[in-house]
Amino acid sequence: MTPDGLTDDISFPFDRDESPTRLLVWEKSGRWAASLRRELGEATTRPIEIRSSRMLKDELGDRPYSFVLIEAHEDNAHRVLDALVHLGEFAPLELAEDWDNVGLLVGDQARAVSRIMTCLTITPECVIEAREKSVDLIVSHHPMPFRPVKRLTTDHTVGQMLWDLARNGTAVYSPHTAFDSAEEGINQMTAQGLDLESIQPLVPREDALGSGRFGSLPTPITLGELIDKLKKFLRIDQVRYVGGSEQSIKKVATGCGSAGMFLEQAVANDCDAFITGETDFHTCLEARAQQTALILTGHYASERFAVERLADCLSEKYPNIETFASHNESDPIECG
Ligand SMILES: [Zn+2]
Repeated sequence: MTPDGLTDDISFPFDRDESPTRLLVWEKSGRWAASLRRELGEATTRPIEIRSSRMLKDELGDRPYSFVLIEAHEDNAHRVLDALVHLGEFAPLELAEDWDNVGLLVGDQARAVSRIMTCLTITPECVIEAREKSVDLIVSHHPMPFRPVKRLTTDHTVGQMLWDLARNGTAVYSPHTAFDSAEEGINQMTAQGLDLESIQPLVPREDALGSGRFGSLPTPITLGELIDKLKKFLRIDQVRYVGGSEQSIKKVATGCGSAGMFLEQAVANDCDAFITGETDFHTCLEARAQQTALILTGHYASERFAVERLADCLSEKYPNIETFASHNESDPIECG
């Protein structure tokens, strides 16, 4: 069953004569899956789908063989695993920051998926919506749980939500900082939405793309004009900012969410303006001292648009799965 040089130390979760319609394989090289496709393909007239992914390379490590067989199905339903593979390709988890908690956080990879809901953060409202709309998988930008959980009780909000999701069989996947930094991720979308050119990571990493983005406007505009452009792109009515509205802006940096710590890199890269969701008072003072404009859109606005786009991307990829961005989710902070 295996190509030359690879071990045959594997057991099949099906009778070979039954020829499953779907066989999902994760492996490092793709060699074994190709061989299996040939062998099984000749033995059956039914279609066999074999996928390979490098997502498990850390777990495979130095093991002598190069594959892990995950599961075989007798039906054509999409599984949580399918979505994981696609999401992992869209926002590779190795891009996530070290402190983050990303990937499948709740659920069963083998569960069939007919409905996916994206959201920025899982809240009690989102959990109710997921139950009412029979959602099988929630793709939440912010992780839940984020911190290690020692007990799962309903005494606290997070425990209650996890308990409810588990009872309903709803899986949770969170790409978080992997999605912030991905090639087509949130910061890239914002930079492109502002028509920036020569877009680069603000905090480059040797082993990956890096965090935040910066680039140049085709022609200088005023800070007021940049704010108008940003409000239009994010579909919001107001922002808070540091700087003068007539200040000339050419180079712009962006870091979604709470990315005030990237102000230093924006200044180091000679950016005239830095955009983030929220930050503290002292970072605002530092921006003014550095004569770098700082625009605060609100954490929610800086990232929510991206989970709406993510729902569109998943719909395109899986036309048979009903995918939507949460309707119940809203910014908890009102402007008075
Ligand atoms: Zn965030």
